[in-house]
Amino acid sequence: MFFTPSWKFLTLSAKTPKSISKNFKRMRAYLSQSIEQAQTRFAKVLAENRRLKGFLLEMVKNCSCQEGSRCPQCQRILGTLNHFGI
Ligand SMILES: [Zn+2]
Repeated sequence: MFFTPSWKFLTLSAKTPKSISKNFKRMRAYLSQSIEQAQTRFAKVLAENRRLKGFLLEMVKNCSCQEGSRCPQCQRILGTLNHFGI
């Protein structure tokens, strides 16, 4: 998906109510597309974070240390996950 933002039309053709309305529609289309792209990116980052969290918890689970007396590395991992609230 390619989209090249162009704001030139705002100053060049915003002279009549009709062209202002046209500009407004273009601007609204541009904004909704930008929001959509940001939401897609955010969803990807969220999915990556979930995978990363699962991977880290798996590491802790597979470590030779026991729950209640975790080794320094596992404590660091769990501390980091808690710190970010994930
Ligand atoms: Zn451990």
